[in-house]
Amino acid sequence: MPVEEMARRGRETLRFGPMKPVGLRDPRTGRDAYAIAQLRMEDRGGRMWNLVGFQTRLRTKEQQRVFRMIPGLADADFLRWGSVHRNAYVNAAAALTRHLSLRDDPMTLFAGQLTGVEGYTESSATGLLAGINLARMLAGEEPVVPPPTTMLGALYRYMNEADPRHFQPMNANFGLLDDLDPPVRDKRRKRELFAERSLRVLDEWSAANGLAGAAIA
Ligand SMILES: Cc1cc2nc3c(=O)[nH]c(=O)nc-3n(C[C@H](O)[C@H](O)[C@H](O)COP(=O)(O)OP(=O)(O)OC[C@H]3O[C@@H](n4cnc5c(N)ncnc54)[C@H](O)[C@@H]3O)c2cc1C
Repeated sequence: MPVEEMARRGRETLRFGPMKPVGLRDPRTGRDAYAIAQLRMEDRGGRMWNLVGFQTRLRTKEQQRVFRMIPGLADADFLRWGSVHRNAYVNAAAALTRHLSLRDDPMTLFAGQLTGVEGYTESSATGLLAGINLARMLAGEEPVVPPPTTMLGALYRYMNEADPRHFQPMNANFGLLDDLDPPVRDKRRKRELFAERSLRVLDEWSAANGLAGAAIA
């Protein structure tokens, strides 16, 4: 979402998005920062820095005016302007099988952002599973998908079961997982138990499918 749209939604919205200051102290005051802008080094010499998470549709003059208000960037030279990235993806819920292949060709596998997952780990994990499944099918075995109590399995379930009319890309998040039985209220404890359950289920699933020791998490 463009930063100007986030800013329009509320005074605090950016502080809970790309400007989230969690765990960062202002070295000048020793106090927690109110908001931060993350700069990612773009060249070895540290002369070019990317302003992380600032996708924008603002005109270039306006970008310069607004972003120069950020402390430390008043005299910045802008080498490349912010833009909004297009994310092209298949409507997996409408077009792909349970293990994310073409419906009429189970050996044509899809993985990564193209399937509607979003993020580095999500994309690599689907790639890893696509590789495992291709190897299995070449060996005459059935493709497998982890149970939905694991994050990867829950993502695959989302891809399969989301409403195809409103299909939207998805990050890994706790909301995708089946609730605990019995339910746990404390958020931190709940997440710990989700992780414990997921690791246990994944071990069992890997062993049952001859994948024990495979680097899948
Ligand atoms: C600005 C931005 C910031 C992001 N920040 C984060 C972040 O902090 N954390 C996070 O987890 N995720 C982040 N993401 C999302 C993350 O980058 C993607 O989800 C992830 O990289 C997708 O991986 P992928 O391998 O599926 O696709 P990609 O990384 O897009 O790789 C696809 C590759 O295929 C190539 N390709 C395309 N068409 C063809 C063709 N016809 N022939 C041959 N090659 C082709 C492309 O050039 C590209 O190299 C960010 C995305 C953007 C745009």
